[in-house]
Amino acid sequence: MSNDSVYIFGGDAPHDDPRQKDKKIAGGKGANLAEMASIGLPVPPGFTVTTEECVRYLKEGADFSAALRQDVASALEHIERTVGKSFGSNDDPLLVSVRSGAAVSMPGMMDTVLNLGLNDETVQGLAKVSGDPRFAWDSYRRFIQMYSDVVLGVDHGLFEEALEIAKEDKGFLSDTEMESEDWEGIVAQYKAICEQETGNAFPQDVQAQLWGAIAAVFDSWDADRAKIYRRLNDIPSDMGTAVNVQAMVFGNMGDTSATGVAFTRDPSTGEKAFYGEWLVNAQGEDVVAGIRTPQYLTRKAREDAGAKPASMEEAMPDAFAELAQTFDLLERHYRDMQDIEFTVQQGKLWMLQTRNGKRTAKAALKMAVDMVGEGLIDEKTAILRVDPMALDQLLHPTLDPDARRDVLTRGLPASPGAAAGRIVLDADTAEQHAQRGENVILVRLETSPEDIHGMHAAKGILTARGGMTSHAAVVARGMGRPCVSGASELSIDMKARTLRIGTRELAEGDMLTLDGGNGQVMAGDVPTVEPELAGDFATLMEWADRHRRMKVRTNAETPEDCRMARQFGAEGIGLCRTEHMFFDAGRISAVRQMILAEDEAGRRKALAKLLPEQRKDFHEIFEVMAGLPCTIRLLDPPLHEFLPTAEDDFAELADATGFGIDHLRRRAADLHEFNPMLGHRGCRLGITYPEIYEMQARALFEAVCDVAASSDQVPLPEIMIPLVGTRRELAILRETVERVAAEVFAEKGREVEYLIGTMIELPRACLMADEIAKDALFFSFGTNDLTQTTLGVSRDDAARFLGPYVEQGIYDRDPFVSLDIDGVGQLVRIAAERGRATRPDIKLGICGEHGGDPASIAFCNEIGLDYVSASPYRVPIARLAAAQASLR
Ligand code: PEP
Ligand code: MG
Repeated sequence: MSNDSVYIFGGDAPHDDPRQKDKKIAGGKGANLAEMASIGLPVPPGFTVTTEECVRYLKEGADFSAALRQDVASALEHIERTVGKSFGSNDDPLLVSVRSGAAVSMPGMMDTVLNLGLNDETVQGLAKVSGDPRFAWDSYRRFIQMYSDVVLGVDHGLFEEALEIAKEDKGFLSDTEMESEDWEGIVAQYKAICEQETGNAFPQDVQAQLWGAIAAVFDSWDADRAKIYRRLNDIPSDMGTAVNVQAMVFGNMGDTSATGVAFTRDPSTGEKAFYGEWLVNAQGEDVVAGIRTPQYLTRKAREDAGAKPASMEEAMPDAFAELAQTFDLLERHYRDMQDIEFTVQQGKLWMLQTRNGKRTAKAALKMAVDMVGEGLIDEKTAILRVDPMALDQLLHPTLDPDARRDVLTRGLPASPGAAAGRIVLDADTAEQHAQRGENVILVRLETSPEDIHGMHAAKGILTARGGMTSHAAVVARGMGRPCVSGASELSIDMKARTLRIGTRELAEGDMLTLDGGNGQVMAGDVPTVEPELAGDFATLMEWADRHRRMKVRTNAETPEDCRMARQFGAEGIGLCRTEHMFFDAGRISAVRQMILAEDEAGRRKALAKLLPEQRKDFHEIFEVMAGLPCTIRLLDPPLHEFLPTAEDDFAELADATGFGIDHLRRRAADLHEFNPMLGHRGCRLGITYPEIYEMQARALFEAVCDVAASSDQVPLPEIMIPLVGTRRELAILRETVERVAAEVFAEKGREVEYLIGTMIELPRACLMADEIAKDALFFSFGTNDLTQTTLGVSRDDAARFLGPYVEQGIYDRDPFVSLDIDGVGQLVRIAAERGRATRPDIKLGICGEHGGDPASIAFCNEIGLDYVSASPYRVPIARLAAAQASLR
């Protein structure tokens, strides 16, 4: 086709315009259909309306241009010519499917309308040419239901209810018992439902049907569900979706017909084995909708599961063999695991879709490593293929194999990992409870795209219906949520808000544990064990380490966290927040005495009690971090954070200090600040109460000298002054620290190497970085505070209003999670440049939360930072993200 809004595929279509295989233009589904057709795979002919048309349609107020109507008409002729049927014909009608397909696959948009082109007359024609009136009426009722649901907005439950009643009246247990006349009766009922609900008769004009469906696909781009999905997955909102119209092939034409979905490798484990589900005599949606329980694809999978119904390999050996060949061809072509939809119509295989399959982190790792071994991809591609954030799934605990499990039932292991939480029965409740910080397990009969926000909020998902490729399973795997699906013993009473599993009854709020790796559903809260970081994980990490430039450190303040971070590959401490050591139950009283003291002498007395404790902390940490650089930050938070609030605390403090409770209360009130984040904190504490920093510096130098006395693995302490805005602040405190260092070294008779530097977390510090660098050997970007102070947005209050900001695209992502590169990033860039101008070898790192965010890490790499620092669980994520940043 010569125009650029519609592309035909299949039959004798040219497939030579690169735009047709560009996912941004033709959508993922359209591009891959063209690609499959062009490599000779059996694809039913069809056409794709581009995403650009969608954007135009939405912008220009839901109107189709005459040119587009003309292009669609000629594309439809291509399908008619190829299959030898005509659209709307009463003798041998062409039926089409209409499906959406954005550049990235997106549950939440209109998915599929099948059998479009049927009406009261063409259904007769279809009955005649197929010689199978039952098939024709079954197809028509499916069409009415799907079209009414997704295009006209009629609740699909109404149709299901009508069908259930009809079956009950007849005493039928399954749809397969329905005869032609039964379906004809259902069609009449469905049309009546549609008319009652919409006020209009079900559309009989096939052109009106087609344009109605195209409009519905376009409109679904702006549906709430789609918007939520885009927000959760950082998908831009201006891309639009393509529409694919394709000749129908039928999997419901008797026992030589079938439909199925498959992955070329196991999407849960990554194992190289065909993996999928199929149904004889069924249409596409039956497999994913969970109405009938799908069967296994291969004999081995069936035997492993101990299932009876024949696998496709056994029941349709020829079609299966062709399918297996196609799997290989597709994997070699795309060099990645494929997620496929196929239909067998009277023995002939048709490919309906292929795309890179979604997978768990475990599977992603295994496939990436295996494919390098198979020579399918190289090491760099493998590194780039694993989503760093997905590693999170592997780093978290799994169920303790030795713990007692009160197993209630077993469903399908739809998405691995262990999760425990309180039962919630709908998505909104899940979200509300999660916002309160509770762990919840979302339990549903089945999930639909409306449940996405609840699935996201939940720690795990349990459904009664649906197979391994059901909505719940696919979405949960994508999100990395443990999921058990198809737990058929589960029933839910939404009125009583209870659920029953076998003989056991549970209520919303009860604890439940899921093992998404084996499908077990357990009562109570089962203990967990730490993950194993060997095997494919270690291999990929080793490759990543070879390809990254930046070092990766950790934010940690306990020896346990440091140990864990080292296991995860941390190459030093990027931020040790020393105040965390003050909150310890045994010390808080001394801290409070220090804060509430009337004068310096009082403060020094209290600090003397803290000195040995703090020295012990540093000693332990330095031992764990043997030989590595350790950035230790001196006290930062406003003092009032340590103040007592509870009655008991005041009483205890009164005992310890000898002051009266009223006096203590008055002192506490004196310390109240209107804006503590911008108040008496950071280096301002060191300036006003130098004895605090003196004590900390002393503890630190004594500890490092002691470690040096007994080990040759001496860490490099980097003493960091927080919240510096002027060079003078730093110069004063630097002198304090250097004085203490000299004292300690003289006392200990030993000198150790150390650095003094500063956090850069105020806009002024960024702008004055050239001056500040005169007194700093390193900068560490505290992007939490820098974001807060640059945006003028309080990090403690932002959650209340940032949601709508992100929804409306004011910020693409939460700027406290992913660095605002355009704004805050400029300041970071300026500071790095100016700091280097003064001191070319100045060490530069980042220790705000952004140090564990892949997009922010890419930015840090670009501006040449020496390292990023992240919380222990994020260290592997940062290692991989840093490697990807180097490779891109
Ligand atoms: C920062 O501000 O980015 C930082 C790391 O320090 P804190 O979060 O402790 O203020
Ligand atoms: Mg800070």
